[in-house]
Amino acid sequence: MSSIISHAIGSAYQISYNHCMKHQMMLSYHHKKCHPNEGKLLNEPIPKKRFGQNFLHDSTVISKIIQVLSLKKSDYLVEIGPGQGALTQHLLAGCQQLNVIEIDYHLADLLKSKWGHIPNFNIIVKDVLQYDFELLMNHQQAFRVIGNLPYNISTPVLFHLIQSKALIQDMHFMLQREVVDRLTAKPGTKQYGRLTVMMQYFCQIDQLFYVSSEAFKPKPKVESAVVRLIPYTNPPVICHHLSVFETIVRHGFTLRRKTLKNSLAPFISVQKLEQLEIDPMRRSDTLTVLEWVNIANILKNIT
Ligand code: SAM
Repeated sequence: MSSIISHAIGSAYQISYNHCMKHQMMLSYHHKKCHPNEGKLLNEPIPKKRFGQNFLHDSTVISKIIQVLSLKKSDYLVEIGPGQGALTQHLLAGCQQLNVIEIDYHLADLLKSKWGHIPNFNIIVKDVLQYDFELLMNHQQAFRVIGNLPYNISTPVLFHLIQSKALIQDMHFMLQREVVDRLTAKPGTKQYGRLTVMMQYFCQIDQLFYVSSEAFKPKPKVESAVVRLIPYTNPPVICHHLSVFETIVRHGFTLRRKTLKNSLAPFISVQKLEQLEIDPMRRSDTLTVLEWVNIANILKNIT
């Protein structure tokens, strides 16, 4: 890793570490105590609900995730939310560089005490949604992103990462099953929505396997699934007006039960829809990604 990158990462660590310290000092922190006679703390933090801490403990599931990653010794990895390190330890063993981004400074300390001495391991204590992934840019190599994501922020994390897609080789995430079903949904289904269209435009997406809630501690209320997203280097369809695309998709799905004639009325006429061979009486959730892009491409500017 170049010195510029390590400097950038170092600064992020310092700045965000102090910020998190300040923030978290104000919140009470709990520990599970050992038997009083032992007179020491086990240092095993109680999972924090606000950080979506459902820790993976099923070794079969962990192995399955590591297997689908097909790690190479030359890989440059970024793990979001390493937690207590269920995946981290396996990632570390199989790559050239591992950066982890963890919001919980106490867990970051735990990881530091376990693997802080390993030169290719870097801990960034920060809210991933505030983190600028450009800081991890390595001119030689795109990075691979992995994470058992906190479910309460998984959709914003996906949208945040997509802004740095040019730096990313691929992404593997454990997500709420419902979110994976939305990511891979087909037009005309109830799961098909804004998240589907935006992510399918930018990435090839494959649902890999479902994971039972039994695999986590504490057990979440929902089922999970592992998904792979590969940002396209050459997208199958090219949108020339990305901001227009984002606006019409957002608008179209806000009014998903209306016909296109009504929901897209502020942006496109019935004649123009017909010119694109799109029936104005259809609804947003029936349009393919290609059709959304075709609409955006004839609109150029909208305000
Ligand atoms: N990777 C671990 C595992 O599989 O056992 C932990 C996964 S747990 C579902 C989610 C992790 O993300 C927690 O460690 C949590 O503290 C961390 N996290 C939550 N919100 C975060 C945020 N905004 N930025 C970075 N990490 C976050």
